[in-house]
Amino acid sequence: MAKAGQKGTPGKYVCIDCGYEFELSAVEKDLKKCPMCACEEYNCFPSTAIRPDIKTPEDVRNPPKKRDYIKK
Ligand SMILES: [Zn+2]
Repeated sequence: MAKAGQKGTPGKYVCIDCGYEFELSAVEKDLKKCPMCACEEYNCFPSTAIRPDIKTPEDVRNPPKKRDYIKK
C-alpha cells in the first residue's frame, strides 16, 4: 500500500478506490492523488526488474519477502 505525498518506488500503482493504474518510473517522484477520484491510497506493485534481491529466474517465480530487502 502506498499513499499520496510519499516518495514512490518504481513500479505499478493501482488506486484502491477506482482502479486507476499508472506506472512510476523515477524514485524521487512524490505520489500524487488519483486523478480520477482524488483517492490518496494505491496498491503498489514494484517492478521486479529493479529489485536487488531478484537475480535468478527462480527468484522471479518465488520472490523473497519484500521486507527482507527493505530492512536496513
Ligand atoms: Zn482513484
